[in-house]
Amino acid sequence: MGNLQNNSVYIKREDFIPFSFGGNKARKAKFFFEEILRGDYDCVVTYGSSSSNHCRIVSNLAAANDMKCYIIAPLESSEETFNSYMMELFGAEISVVSVDKVSKTIEDKLADLKKAGKKPYFIAGGGHGNLGTEAYVECYEEIKDFEENAAVHFDYIFHASGTGTTQAGLICGKLIHNDSTEIVGISIARKNPRGRNVVLDSARDYLAEKSIFFAENELDDATVFEDGYTGDGYGSDNSSEVIDQVLIKYGIPFDSTYTGKAFAGMLDYLDKNSIKDKNILFIHTGGTPLFFDHLRK
Ligand SMILES: *Cc1c(COP(=O)(O)O)cnc(C)c1O
Repeated sequence: MGNLQNNSVYIKREDFIPFSFGGNKARKAKFFFEEILRGDYDCVVTYGSSSSNHCRIVSNLAAANDMKCYIIAPLESSEETFNSYMMELFGAEISVVSVDKVSKTIEDKLADLKKAGKKPYFIAGGGHGNLGTEAYVECYEEIKDFEENAAVHFDYIFHASGTGTTQAGLICGKLIHNDSTEIVGISIARKNPRGRNVVLDSARDYLAEKSIFFAENELDDATVFEDGYTGDGYGSDNSSEVIDQVLIKYGIPFDSTYTGKAFAGMLDYLDKNSIKDKNILFIHTGGTPLFFDHLRK
């Protein structure tokens, strides 16, 4: 992207991952579906709101593999979006329940399917879990390859942080490669300490599964979860101006739920922390259908 606020800013286009508008949920879902297709499963159960990129991708992949997809969705964020239109087009069966009933409804759905002789595979919302984290360790390795080929070292990586495994994977990648790159997750909804703790737990789970050991303080130092840019919470629009400017100047679409919030947050963070003359990587984590929802508003 060139020079922004006296830093050299690069962008990694995860939105270009070539399936169902890409994004970080496409990178994660690939790992889940490898396990599903290797195993003995005939349907998928997951959850997320009507604007969930995760639910769009999972229902697309399920349909592509002739599997039924069941989505449990919270009533509180169930307005129609381009993602929800696609979930319907992919034939997902969507159960809308109030948010406090979501986990019970998931348990019931899984039990009912098993009773009916089905073999459901459950994916946590946002592609949470070690496979989701693994996907972003892989992404970190792509970034390292880029750094080697382009002879550049990133001082900072910024990205939108939500359910946590995108950031956990990047942090594990950084620790495994013993890099100094600072990874800054810009929270799009959760506040500290919870948001940061979920990232830390995901990193710990992944490292434990791989039998890789890091001291708690190393993990702690590597985890920067910035919660000052959440606006009025999930889905609230506090970055319209930046979204418009980036679209005009760079032709790059951001949305107001994830990437716009994170990019606007990054610009302010660079400013507030007097960060200058650094190489900065922003990861565009996708969500292109949400860009169109934003445009229509
Ligand atoms: C889900 C999502 C995120 C957040 O990723 P997590 O792994 O849940 O933290 C960021 N950007 C977009 C576009 C997303 O869909």
